[in-house]
Amino acid sequence: MKVNVEEKLGVNKFYVDEENPHIVLKKDSIDMKEFKKLVIACPAGLYSINEDGSVRFDYAGCLECGTCRVLCHDTILEKWEFPRGTLGVEYRYG
Ligand code: SF4
Repeated sequence: MKVNVEEKLGVNKFYVDEENPHIVLKKDSIDMKEFKKLVIACPAGLYSINEDGSVRFDYAGCLECGTCRVLCHDTILEKWEFPRGTLGVEYRYG
């Protein structure tokens, strides 16, 4: 049986807090070794590296799994908290 992860994730609904990101990267130079851990580990694929080597992160599709917090909270993350009440991911199955 083949599972299409993007299709499965697309079933979820996200209520994005535009004014208050719940995850923020540190603003000073990013440790690429640490960042690459998150490119591999984030189940939603929210951390990526552009062709020019710059980093990209968008908290909007976050699954709130906490993986990036566990791996990099002390290194490249400035902030990690759950979204405010009623905001964030709403899991749907199907
Ligand atoms: S909490 Fe999970 S889904 Fe959200 S950005 Fe971190 S690793 Fe990705």
